[in-house]
Amino acid sequence: MFALYYDEIFYSGVARLQKRLPIGRVELQSMFGFGKFASFLFLPPHIGQSGAAFFLEPHVRRLRERHCTSPFYATTANGVNRLNFAKLHGASALRAPHRMQLCAACSAEDFKIIGETFWRRSHQLPGAAVCWKHNTQLFETPHSNSPSTRFLLHDANDVWTDAFQPVQLCNDSPSKLMLAVQLRDLLQGRYQGQYRTRALQMGFERKAGIPDFDKLEAEITAFFGADYLSEIGATLLPGAQGNWTRLLSSPKQRRLLHSTYHALFEAFLQSKSPKQAVYANGPWRCPLPVDHGSERYPVKVLSQRRERGILVATATCSCGTAFTTRGGQTDRDVAPSISTISKIGPKLASRICSEIKGGKTKRQTAAALHIPFNAVVRGLAMAKSAALSAASFGRTEN
Ligand SMILES: [Zn+2]
Ligand SMILES: [Zn+2]
Repeated sequence: MFALYYDEIFYSGVARLQKRLPIGRVELQSMFGFGKFASFLFLPPHIGQSGAAFFLEPHVRRLRERHCTSPFYATTANGVNRLNFAKLHGASALRAPHRMQLCAACSAEDFKIIGETFWRRSHQLPGAAVCWKHNTQLFETPHSNSPSTRFLLHDANDVWTDAFQPVQLCNDSPSKLMLAVQLRDLLQGRYQGQYRTRALQMGFERKAGIPDFDKLEAEITAFFGADYLSEIGATLLPGAQGNWTRLLSSPKQRRLLHSTYHALFEAFLQSKSPKQAVYANGPWRCPLPVDHGSERYPVKVLSQRRERGILVATATCSCGTAFTTRGGQTDRDVAPSISTISKIGPKLASRICSEIKGGKTKRQTAAALHIPFNAVVRGLAMAKSAALSAASFGRTEN
């Protein structure tokens, strides 16, 4: 049965399907045409006016909402209608990426878990330079995301296996990661807005009730870097009334601005907010008191997500233990604290055993190793069954 993966863009699914069914360019073109359906295959910025009418039909809603990038635009526009559709997608100074982008870490994970990889919507959003999940730089492939006259689709699997073994470059600027997270949030319909009020609350106030835009814009430019803003078409000119920061502060004009501007403003405001939790760029230290050899930073992978507003990360360490940690950790040399342990590594299990053999109770062991009590119980059970199987293995050998 053919199905699309979570966050997979429609283009990607059809490209994979081409391998199993005899769908050629001619068939694709006759099915999807250029103006009308092409936007399902390619990205919405390339949709024409005639396509917009079809695109908004109720029966294509699910596809549009789950496997196209249009929810990203609809979130800030308070819904998409025929009138604002083309405007939101097309008419903007913002520069959208023209090539399909891929995260090397996501694809490596995909191959491990599902045996193939695919193009994700969240990696194709205008302004997305890094993966929101892995904080790795997105790889720009040679393939265009707009319909070509030859109507060629590119399967992410071929791109991954044939062309290169992408190097996972870790991004070192917090602003790009924060922007990527905001872009993804808009795609999922999460939107806070209220920029003017929040900027005032944070002290960007020229006089009572009037935002200090000059100061705000200087700080936003410093946060993202003038080069990056110019690269994506979001440059802020000192004092200009047409700056997106000022337009976003006007309820009337806000809805007509490209969603990426909203995400830029939101990422900046969140970086200023004291309750914002982040994890410093990895790799990270392991909180477990077990032997990691000469590795100072053995935790290479940290997958972050939010649970009811709290930042939660799942970490996998080279010592074999996987754990979750909450609330962020900005100092790279302080190990993140463990909230739950999902997988106990052999080194941790034997450390737990030696603490118990040394006379500690389970509760004392949990306290000494800074791990949850149930992890001690599970570690002991693991060590016991390992000892049993070793013993029975020994007997059959003799
Ligand atoms: Zn990724
Ligand atoms: Zn470890």
